[in-house]
Amino acid sequence: MPKPVIVLLLFSFAIVLTAAIVATVPQAPLGPAVIVIDAGHGGHDPGAVVSGVREKDVNLSIALLVQRKAQSAGNLRVILTRTADVYPPLLERLDLAQAVGARLYISIHANFYRDPTICGVETWVDTDADPESLRLARAVQQAVVAAAGAADRGVHQQTLYLRHTSLPTALVEVGYLSCPAERAKLQDPTYQDRVAAGILAGILSFLQGL
Ligand SMILES: [Zn+2]
Repeated sequence: MPKPVIVLLLFSFAIVLTAAIVATVPQAPLGPAVIVIDAGHGGHDPGAVVSGVREKDVNLSIALLVQRKAQSAGNLRVILTRTADVYPPLLERLDLAQAVGARLYISIHANFYRDPTICGVETWVDTDADPESLRLARAVQQAVVAAAGAADRGVHQQTLYLRHTSLPTALVEVGYLSCPAERAKLQDPTYQDRVAAGILAGILSFLQGL
């Protein structure tokens, strides 16, 4: 065969091969990303209690708001570890996240300190947290601070039960119940809504790899 014909044949073959490869690339799964949101404490464990305000109630209100907001956020399904004033054991909360195939696990808490002038948002990860958990914590911290207009007290590490899951996970302290101004805000549904919006925004930016 003359050279130009061979080149043309090889070229055609390459086009056919490329088309075949493109046609067989598997599509990414289109189902919603499942995430688990934990309202800290519950039931016999009220968490911090200041002037009659119980942390477990604040945590649950915000968790329910995150779930409700996620319904209009598109491709996201939020499962809560509790939807009432009950106490699921901590490891069972993590087991739930594994069982439903969650992409991540966020635990919502409100803080307490003996000094009432300490106010603001903090996010915690375990001392052995992997880079993905740190990335999640930073995304949530940044978004909650921005949405709530609260003081940024940063991302920190301590030994947490969250070490018992391999999922990306973080614990957000949405404010101090011991800080009078923040305690008032954390009972306000409008402020709770802003905090919930921040948590959701942080999760979405994490999932989008931002
Ligand atoms: Zn707590």
